[in-house]
Amino acid sequence: MTFALPAGTPSVSIRGRDEVFPVHRIYCVGRNFAEHAKEMGAEPSRPTEPPAFFMKPADAVVADGATIPYPRGTSELHHEVELVVALGAGHDGVIAASDALALVYGYAVGIDLTRRDLQARAKAKGLPWDVAKGFDHSAPISAIVPVAVSGHPFDAELSLAVNGRSVQRAPLSQMIFGVADVLHELSKLYDLRAGDLVFMGTPAGVGPLHQGDRFHAEVSGLATLDGVIGS
Ligand code: MN
Repeated sequence: MTFALPAGTPSVSIRGRDEVFPVHRIYCVGRNFAEHAKEMGAEPSRPTEPPAFFMKPADAVVADGATIPYPRGTSELHHEVELVVALGAGHDGVIAASDALALVYGYAVGIDLTRRDLQARAKAKGLPWDVAKGFDHSAPISAIVPVAVSGHPFDAELSLAVNGRSVQRAPLSQMIFGVADVLHELSKLYDLRAGDLVFMGTPAGVGPLHQGDRFHAEVSGLATLDGVIGS
C-alpha cells in the first residue's frame, strides 16, 4: 500500500535518543488545579466526578526553541503550562488506576496554548471548545524524558516565566486528579494507545502572550521548554 498524498506522523524528540516519539493523539485535562478553576470562574474538578477532557490535533505539537506564529482568529492568546504524560503502550478498554502508570513512556513540560476569547464565547453559548484549544501550533512541548531516566516526577514543581517574569508556579502535588487517575478516567472514554500525549491541566496564573514574548516553562528537575511568539 502507498499513500496517494504525502503522509507523515507528528513527533516529539526524546532526551538522549536519536529516535523520536510518534504522536497518536493529544488529550488535555481541564480544571485540574483548584486555583485555576477559580480564576476561570469555574468550579474545580471534584475527585468524585470525572475530569473534563478535550483534545488537540496531533500535528499541533511544536518543538522546544521554536518561534510560534501568533494564531489567526484571536486577540487573546493565553499560556497554560502543564505536565505532559507520554504513553509508550496502549490498553483496550478500561484500565485500573493501579495498572495505569505502567503505560507511561515518559514526561515532558508543555503549554496548552488557548484562544481565550474564543473559549469565553464558546462557553457563553454552550458550544464546543475546539477552535479555542485545538489549533495549529497550539501544543509546544519539551523533549520527552523517559520514565526509566526520570521516574515519576510527582514531587516536582511546574512553572512558567514570560520575558523573565514568573507567572505560573505550583507543585504537581496540587493536581486534583493525578496521572494514574487521569489515565483510568480517560480509558473509560477512549482506548489508550502508544503515542498518546496527555496534558495534565494548568495551575493559576494563566494570562496573555503577545508578539515577541519569550517563554520559559519548566518541570523542576525534569525538563525545560523555551519559545518565542512570532508575528
Ligand atoms: Mn489546559
